Amino acid sequence: MPLSVSDLLKRSLELDFSDSPGLDSLLLLCHSLDVEQSWVKTWPNYLLDVDQLAYFEELLARRQGGEPIAFILGHQGFWTLDLKVSPHTLIPRPETELLVETALSLKLVNNCHALDLGTGSGAIALALASERPDWQITASDSSYEAVQVAQSNCSAYQCANVSIFQSNWYDQIPKGDKTGGYNVILSNPPYIGENDPHLEQGDVRFEPSSALVAGRDGLDALRIVIGRSPAYLAQAGWLLVEHGCDQALDVQNLFKNAGLGKIETRADLNGMDRITFGCLL
Ligand code: GLN
Repeated sequence: MPLSVSDLLKRSLELDFSDSPGLDSLLLLCHSLDVEQSWVKTWPNYLLDVDQLAYFEELLARRQGGEPIAFILGHQGFWTLDLKVSPHTLIPRPETELLVETALSLKLVNNCHALDLGTGSGAIALALASERPDWQITASDSSYEAVQVAQSNCSAYQCANVSIFQSNWYDQIPKGDKTGGYNVILSNPPYIGENDPHLEQGDVRFEPSSALVAGRDGLDALRIVIGRSPAYLAQAGWLLVEHGCDQALDVQNLFKNAGLGKIETRADLNGMDRITFGCLL
């Protein structure tokens, strides 16, 4: 029996495969028909043909199997951008916008040099580039596939001031004494402990563990990013990192041990400690 757009959306409200089955179904329907949401609202009685219906059902089945909506659609909104994502990249989270917002609020020199370590889809680097075309931004990721995705997002937004390359944290990054150092280093590294039960739930089951998991206490990557930062920071340069809500004290201590000062932690919109930043004194 042919089904209309509104039949499918009504049916979705009876399903409970996610926190937002109605919205998920709407997004999948738009994707299947290659139309905007306004089209779906304008033509509720449109009858899907057999192929369109089969494609929609296939996408819905993937979502019902727990696959993140961003991986099914292949893109995710972040800051003012719509970024391509793949199972090789973390899905950009709204919490990470706090890192961007805080970096933009710092007093920094013109022609600022910024470094985004573990860029994934390029979210942080490209959000900064979109706001500060006069900055020189370097972004790196250890995953070849993630670098390809970030590169493709960079080209889509024609960010000429961003260079992206493959590097395991600082390994391939020129030292501060050669570059004059970075005025700001940012990172949303993996910070979940390897036995954390959250890894068995929701979207993270489908994301690369290299972007999520960092040793027993989740601090392995943060130890590297923070501990090695002084060699790469310009004088009075800032380091900003995202971390788990229960890691603020440990992260502040890592900042202190690295000799950084003016250390501050900020909470995200859910009131959870989410980022810590400090500067090279
Ligand atoms: N914020 C993510 C989560 O808890 C984890 C991202 C990360 O490890 N950087 O789902």
